Amino acid sequence: MGVEHPLGDNVVTTSLDFVVNWARRSSIWPMTFGLACCAIEMMATGASKFDLDRFGIIFRASSRQADCIIIAGTVTKKMLPVIKTVYEQMPEPKWVIAMGACACSGGIFDTYSVVQGIDEALPVDVYIPGCPPRPEALLYGILKLQDKIGRERNSFGSAIGLGERLEPAA
Ligand code: SF4
Repeated sequence: MGVEHPLGDNVVTTSLDFVVNWARRSSIWPMTFGLACCAIEMMATGASKFDLDRFGIIFRASSRQADCIIIAGTVTKKMLPVIKTVYEQMPEPKWVIAMGACACSGGIFDTYSVVQGIDEALPVDVYIPGCPPRPEALLYGILKLQDKIGRERNSFGSAIGLGERLEPAA
């Protein structure tokens, strides 16, 4: 109050965590990666009608530059090691969205060859139901992820090696 009053609107006081979280949630860069039919909806979400760019969301073609992976499609057991490798190549902090019934639970494919939910292998932050979910559903899921990132604690401390990033309760 004492600082803000004489300087009017020229000063904003906030926490480092808020600034770091704001930057992270405003520039989610998902891996360019799709597995099955849900990936078509994900591509539609990124195209001009729905336009993910306006949220600062830009798909990256390298896992080294991505901080989010959208599991869009059926996860087969044969593909799982590849998905894990891509995920491990992504730098911290990173987030996972399970898009569609297949990624969330195996969907209709209760078979020997299909993983019954990607959360068996990766820490999922947001689940999006549907077969397939429409682009609006993916947008809503991404907004939920932004909310979650905005509520994380010790974001700045963990970035400079002081403790762990504390994730909000689900
Ligand atoms: S949830 Fe439906 S649309 Fe998505 S990958 Fe599975 S079968 Fe295809």
